[in-house]
Amino acid sequence: MGASLVIRQHPWAPRADVQRWVQNCASEDQFEHGASYSGYWNMKSGGIHFDESRVFDSPQAAEEYISEENDKFGGLTAVPALQRLSLPRETAESDAKLKDLRVQIQALNNTLWTFDRAIVTRAKAGKSAFKGCAHCGSRISLKHLTTGHTRCPVCNQNLLRTETDDKKEQALKTRATRLQEQLAEREQALLKKLAKGKPIEGKVWVVGGWCAS
Ligand SMILES: [Zn+2]
Repeated sequence: MGASLVIRQHPWAPRADVQRWVQNCASEDQFEHGASYSGYWNMKSGGIHFDESRVFDSPQAAEEYISEENDKFGGLTAVPALQRLSLPRETAESDAKLKDLRVQIQALNNTLWTFDRAIVTRAKAGKSAFKGCAHCGSRISLKHLTTGHTRCPVCNQNLLRTETDDKKEQALKTRATRLQEQLAEREQALLKKLAKGKPIEGKVWVVGGWCAS
């Protein structure tokens, strides 16, 4: 005997409404898929376990939780999740400001990802083939330094980064965070326009469980 995971969503409503809806679904499941080992909700006889101890960040997160927590021998699990309106691709791609922000963020992230690599490259291109470690006194041959490894291979303390490097990296990170915020604001603004006065996020019930099949 196996089991299949069946999960459905219901708009936010009092528990009694959800219970009635679940009964209707189970009847339809029985009608469509049969009374024994259907792999659908009519196999769940243990009622509904409502758990409102937290609101999941997305219906997907709630589904994952249910797939882990629900037992095929028990009832259905019902949890609240936030459902957000998502920006259609065409809208996102036709908005110049949004596109520009994404390009800038991508470029900044590339610089941040390769930041240490650039420091090592700079050191290797320098006049001196060796660098003395200020922490342990070792004399390190630069040509043997691993790509992107700015620490001393002997004591693992900083070898190549200067204070200016740290400040520069910090400034890049701050800028990336600010651009991310601007991007989020722009997305929210576009979503609000799309939603035409309706809320762009709201709670839904995510209900489901493993059903004997
Ligand atoms: Zn060292």
